[in-house]
Amino acid sequence: MPARSAASGHTAGMAIDPELVRALHLVAEDRRGASEDAAAVHHLFQTSTVAALMDSRYDGDLTVGEVMAHGDLGLGTLAALDGELIIVDGEAHVGRTDGSLSPVAPGTTTPFAVVTPFAPGDPVTILEMDHHALLERLDAIAPGAVSAVRIEGTFRRLHLRSVPRQQKPYPPLSEVVAAQAEWEVRDVAAVVVGFRFPREAAGLEVPGWHLHAMALDHSTGGHVLEADVESVRAWIDATDEVHVELPPGVQIGGADPAMRAEIERAETSPTPDHAGAPAHPPESSG
Ligand SMILES: [Zn+2]
Repeated sequence: MPARSAASGHTAGMAIDPELVRALHLVAEDRRGASEDAAAVHHLFQTSTVAALMDSRYDGDLTVGEVMAHGDLGLGTLAALDGELIIVDGEAHVGRTDGSLSPVAPGTTTPFAVVTPFAPGDPVTILEMDHHALLERLDAIAPGAVSAVRIEGTFRRLHLRSVPRQQKPYPPLSEVVAAQAEWEVRDVAAVVVGFRFPREAAGLEVPGWHLHAMALDHSTGGHVLEADVESVRAWIDATDEVHVELPPGVQIGGADPAMRAEIERAETSPTPDHAGAPAHPPESSG
């Protein structure tokens, strides 16, 4: 079953995991389709795919400003993999390898970003929990195949990472991540945002929880490796409609087991078993 295409989108040659099609309402668009696709509550918009990132496509097609026309909460990266993009309350910031956080000019291009017009339900209070317990708690309160989350409050510890800006010819993402910078901040007031995708979405997206964080005083920010909670509130926005803008030459395809493992190593917020969302049963053999 092919994905439905937007009116001006293109879907030629796509091979999509049927499990993914069942789990999500997936709409592929080109640049023009994306520009005509208004932001809608509980819709998720992304530019390009994680598989394209794994394939060293770091230049980007849309600007951060164009992506943010589709949502006010999200994450991603910048052209040439110039840091970790975090979008909160309609403002874009980038966390770099020196641990700094800077505002992002709307004209900056992005090779991968996911946003949603965040429309959550009531928040849930979460106290005194390590990272793994936090992810289990989020799974318990997040319905549906795909959820967006915002977690705000005080964290005992944030273990963050960022990646260095790359030069052409671009190396593959697995090599870049091997050279990532990691740091920790303790007893910090921060906001964490991100998404959980089912494991069948590997390739299109990062399976499991993908989280980026920034300190509320804007002193630091990055991709979350671990987040130990002191006292936070978590807001969840369950979504099932995903609109993907595909740059020329990028298609939606499933990830083979080797790529899935690489994506999980590179991007998924670590869980004890490295599983994706529990909303779906484990894959059958083959
Ligand atoms: Zn990330």
